Amino acid sequence: MQHNLTVYNTLTRTKEKFEPIHPAMVGMYVCGPTVYSDVHLGNCRTFDSFDLIYRYLLHLGYKVRYVRNITDAGHLEGDNDEGDDKFAKKARLEQLEPMEIVQKYTLGFHDVLRMFNTLPPSIEPTATGHISEQIEMIKQIIANGYAYEVNGTVYFDVDKYTKEHNYTILTNRNLEDLLNNTRELGGQDEKYGRLDFALWIKAKPEHIMRWSSPWSVGFPGWHIECSAMSRKYLGDQFDIHGGGMDLAATHHTNEIAQSEACNSVQPAKYWMHTNMLTVNGTRMSKSAGNGFLPHELFTGDHPLLNKGYSPMAVRFFMLQAHYRSTLDFSNEALEAAEKGYKRLMAAIGLLNKIVPAAKSDIDIDLKVLRARCYAAMDDDFNSPVLIAELFELVRLINSVYDGKQQLDQGALESVRELIQHFVFDVMGLSDDQLGSDQESVERLMEIIINIRNEAKKNKDFTVSDRIRQELAEIGIQLKDSRDGTLWNKI
Ligand code: AMP
Ligand code: ZN
Repeated sequence: MQHNLTVYNTLTRTKEKFEPIHPAMVGMYVCGPTVYSDVHLGNCRTFDSFDLIYRYLLHLGYKVRYVRNITDAGHLEGDNDEGDDKFAKKARLEQLEPMEIVQKYTLGFHDVLRMFNTLPPSIEPTATGHISEQIEMIKQIIANGYAYEVNGTVYFDVDKYTKEHNYTILTNRNLEDLLNNTRELGGQDEKYGRLDFALWIKAKPEHIMRWSSPWSVGFPGWHIECSAMSRKYLGDQFDIHGGGMDLAATHHTNEIAQSEACNSVQPAKYWMHTNMLTVNGTRMSKSAGNGFLPHELFTGDHPLLNKGYSPMAVRFFMLQAHYRSTLDFSNEALEAAEKGYKRLMAAIGLLNKIVPAAKSDIDIDLKVLRARCYAAMDDDFNSPVLIAELFELVRLINSVYDGKQQLDQGALESVRELIQHFVFDVMGLSDDQLGSDQESVERLMEIIINIRNEAKKNKDFTVSDRIRQELAEIGIQLKDSRDGTLWNKI
């Protein structure tokens, strides 16, 4: 592989050359959604950003094991291991079982990501499916002296950990400041230290989602699931750990501490964080109530939206910003992105209509342009720069179509290859004019039936019979009726 991929590592706060631990298999773990409600567009931005990263690694020829978890247990509403279980609360509200809530929102999450053309991960483990792995890990952390039990609840001992490790390694915060900004322990508190966090929580009688453990009937804390599942599927040390920037200060900081305390090694070589999607400068979030649901965006059915946008136009909008920059939502920005996306797709549509010339006569060097596309992606997955390079191709295609420049067969192939690699494979865009698979089938059948009927009209029965026969062989039956030719699957 001739590429010089560099990635920004939150851990070292620098761009580093990407050198996987085991080049034969890149391990990537991304914190997935908490499935007690619909995902909003902000969540989608993070998953689409990691989709771009995943796609580019695949494109470069790496084998990647991409693990993205589903958090379906253990989230309490409060920040301090307190409050109601989010799943149980939602289940009461919707009069469903907690696991029905999990199923409903997991399916919704998958539907949305499919619309955005996001590739599924290699493994999608759930927290509730890995309770025993979490218990084993907690046992090991206790055995190594970094956790303690009080009344059936197990806490991570941050004070003990900081004596030998840098607890704030990921965010570089000052531990003193952090302590000063954390509320003091009250009389009710069982924790030894203010920064200690729960690994296992003893269930109150009303808590529905509960499991047996050596300490109590209870449930795991929020952070332990990712340490346990990444370890199970990717090993004690793997290449990339990712998630939204908002997860770095607590969730990922605690994940590193747990994994180090258990395995004595830093879990991930590169920590990658995506920046936030904002609305008028405020982070889009479930709690702030400013979260657009993707279907609201697609239909335009939201007070802040002037109209609806196709999933691919929205994906393009997100790709126009680098994953480490904030991206502010506005109708103007979306409209501009939609125009850009349509210009790109229109040019790609013209490619099939271009007749190659005997000799190329173009004002750009395609080899240089290709190198610049790779350079953009090699520079920490810089999709906005890649898009700018691809618009050079758009300009070229339009100019060739207008007869102002000429492409020979080889150059035309090079343009097609660049489009296939970067627009479709790497950026994961598709032409939304083609619609869903079902719509495509309907349109293809319409075309085939029209050709058959024309053949019949011209008394070319060899062709019309062949079409009927070959469709029948793949289980499609044609029926001629007064309303035209209908088709169905046998
Ligand atoms: P959650 O379901 O809230 O745990 O979030 C799932 C993922 O979405 C996490 O990686 C979050 O960091 C990420 N996320 C949440 N809000 C935003 C946002 N406004 N912009 C980008 N990513 C976000
Ligand atoms: Zn996580």
